[in-house]
Amino acid sequence: MAISFEIPERVKQEQMMAQALADGIMRPVSRELDENEHARPVDFITMIWPVLRDQQARQLDRLKAPPAEASEKKGPRSTYLRMMFQVEALSHGDAGQYLCMPSALLAGSAIEAVGTPEQKERFLRRFAEGDDPKWGAMAMTEPNAGSDTKAIEATATLDPDTNEWILNGEKIFITNGGLALAESDGIVVVWATVDKSAGRAGMKPFVVEAGTPGVSVTKAEIKHGIRASDTVSLVFNDCRIPFDNILGDPEVQQEGSRKGFKGAMATFDASRPLVAAGALGVGRAALEFVKKRLKKEGIAIPYDQPHHKLTAIQRDVLEMEAQLKAAYLLTLRATAMLDEGQRNSLEASMAKAKAGKAVTQVTQKAVELLGMQGYNRDWLVEKWMRDAKINDIYEGTGQINLLVVARRILEYSSRELN
Ligand SMILES: Cc1cc2nc3c(=O)[nH]c(=O)nc-3n(C[C@H](O)[C@H](O)[C@H](O)COP(=O)(O)OP(=O)(O)OC[C@H]3O[C@@H](n4cnc5c(N)ncnc54)[C@H](O)[C@@H]3O)c2cc1C
Repeated sequence: MAISFEIPERVKQEQMMAQALADGIMRPVSRELDENEHARPVDFITMIWPVLRDQQARQLDRLKAPPAEASEKKGPRSTYLRMMFQVEALSHGDAGQYLCMPSALLAGSAIEAVGTPEQKERFLRRFAEGDDPKWGAMAMTEPNAGSDTKAIEATATLDPDTNEWILNGEKIFITNGGLALAESDGIVVVWATVDKSAGRAGMKPFVVEAGTPGVSVTKAEIKHGIRASDTVSLVFNDCRIPFDNILGDPEVQQEGSRKGFKGAMATFDASRPLVAAGALGVGRAALEFVKKRLKKEGIAIPYDQPHHKLTAIQRDVLEMEAQLKAAYLLTLRATAMLDEGQRNSLEASMAKAKAGKAVTQVTQKAVELLGMQGYNRDWLVEKWMRDAKINDIYEGTGQINLLVVARRILEYSSRELN
């Protein structure tokens, strides 16, 4: 597939708008929200909601339009490309606040990946209308199931008398889980097993709507970074939901089939490039800041000099730029493939693994280069270093994404290489 490195004008304009929000609304309260973990970025949420709501409305209309008509009217799809650049700019403002963005977020990725057309309309339309912001969350992780998602123990049992699913279990570290359940119309996509003996094939996603009895928020995490974001534990105790809230096909395929789990993989294929984009934004914040400080000290970065003529600091800055550029190019490729409707598991994992590693190294180097001042709380560099690490953890750790890359290249199954 040919990828254009020319970013469409429309995408650039939206990126500039997101950057203005990042600079004007998010940055000024970055430290305050970092130090008051469970306060929420009210101004950012209020300002971004109408923008995201209208984007979601256009996206839903596009999903409904016949493919030929949609592409004739609007040209090539750039939904994910636009999201990539917006996420990068907003994370440059503040990664924790960006995660509080009122939207379907990961729940939306799951619904788009596995939901039926009727479910897409029913569950996503709410994010496309109304004056009040709404949140979606996705709950996979459990106390005994992190990277090894097939180990999930949450169950969904069908009550034949009422035709309802009954959910039981605990989910931990769920981003926006508290926000999604606090506001009416919020949703959480919960992964549970309908048949433990079927392994991954028995894993299914269910939509739990805010206000449903039997689900409660039991813990709000106190975190190392992205402290403006909402991360909670959820407990499901005989939580009853309608039969139609199971996403996609309720049938459990034969033993060994990975069909149920394919829904989870498709969700990750869509979300990993966006996590990578968020990492790029944090990395850019640190890099720009270091260059500005060095310039004040009279240290410029000469791009036309041979490597051996540069000082150690100049080489470090060039290395930071190279790492971020490599991650950017991989992210652009994984995102462009999504917009083209191509399978991008390999590319999504490459982008996510590289961006998670790059932002961790770049922000650590930024703190190092700025000396003592880099380590105290006068500047945001130490915060960016803390905000960076999560990109190497959630949506598949660095190691897990490298495993996916190896499996795809070597053509091994997850059973053969784990
Ligand atoms: C702030 C935050 C927000 C989160 N948000 C969400 C959310 O919204 N929804 C959700 O469902 N989850 C969420 N998570 C959970 C996150 O996805 C998990 O933390 C992640 O999947 C890793 O699982 P774990 O922490 O249990 O680590 P483990 O799986 O226990 O891994 C520990 C270490 O072992 C390594 N490892 C594990 N298996 C292998 C292997 N086979 N080969 C090589 N190395 C391996 C890992 O890479 C890691 O370094 C969030 C976590 C955090 C911290």
